[in-house]
Amino acid sequence: MKKKYIIAIDGPAASGKSTTAKLLAKKLEYVYIDTGVMYRACGLSALKNDVDLENDLELEKMLDKISIRIEYSGKGNKVFLNGEEVSERIRQADITKLSSEIAVIGSVRAKMVELQRKMGDKGGIIMDGRDIGTVVFPNADFKFFMIADVHTRAQRRWKEAQEKGEDLKLEDIENELIWRDKNDSNRKNSPLKQAKDAIPIDTTQMTITDQVEFIYDVIIRG
Ligand code: C5P
Repeated sequence: MKKKYIIAIDGPAASGKSTTAKLLAKKLEYVYIDTGVMYRACGLSALKNDVDLENDLELEKMLDKISIRIEYSGKGNKVFLNGEEVSERIRQADITKLSSEIAVIGSVRAKMVELQRKMGDKGGIIMDGRDIGTVVFPNADFKFFMIADVHTRAQRRWKEAQEKGEDLKLEDIENELIWRDKNDSNRKNSPLKQAKDAIPIDTTQMTITDQVEFIYDVIIRG
């Protein structure tokens, strides 16, 4: 496989995108870019700088000086916001909600899309998010749209939390996912939706290995 493809994976939270994309990137020796962390970092930046999300000028000032760096390593990604490591902080519940709230704003999306295109336009990348196949790289070589039953997705997140020693209620996780699906799908700017030419993958009954193999086969066949 000579060509350095652009591979887009979109879908709702906990549908299996990140884990699959990370393993696939390793297998293909591609760079993996998780665009969700960028919206999470934006949310945290707004919180830290006390930015009023309805004030365009305040938002513009924040976006002008924002720097988001993602370091990829076998142990998990490290995210830096304006030089400070925020990898753990951006996974907390308040920032998860804020990331979805800030992601509806046109100026925020324009800035993130600009950064994402710069990161990926040389190819050899797997980028996951909500709008990669529809907006960021509408001409991506391969597009996938992963979905899964919401209860299964909540169980996945609950298990991850348990493993980290966090005691969360399954019902709260499921309600948060339902709220986010709705907020992400109903926004005016770049809503979460399947690109017309994306291949849908329902991961409800699939293992991570199944997901990686499925996408890998499609890519190898070209
Ligand atoms: O993928 P993750 O759950 O970390 O994303 C956090 C939030 O960022 C999503 O709920 C969504 O609102 C927003 N997002 C987005 N577009 C992307 C990636 C994430 O709007 N490409």
